[in-house]
Amino acid sequence: MTDKEYEVIIEMKGYKCLRCGEVWIPRKKHPAGKEIPDVCPRCKSHSWQTKVRFPTISKAQKKRKR
Ligand SMILES: [Zn+2]
Repeated sequence: MTDKEYEVIIEMKGYKCLRCGEVWIPRKKHPAGKEIPDVCPRCKSHSWQTKVRFPTISKAQKKRKR
């Protein structure tokens, strides 16, 4: 904390990629009201919200999407 009255600490909600550890703050909401990005801005992972348990699981996931 600070004892200067003109200084404030602003807390913002941000997101953290559980894959590479990247932390970012969403700049603004998307038109659809979705502020959570689909991919991590750093490692471009689509499952940045999910911790890595089985690194080789991506093959099965890709097939399911198509
Ligand atoms: Zn990442």
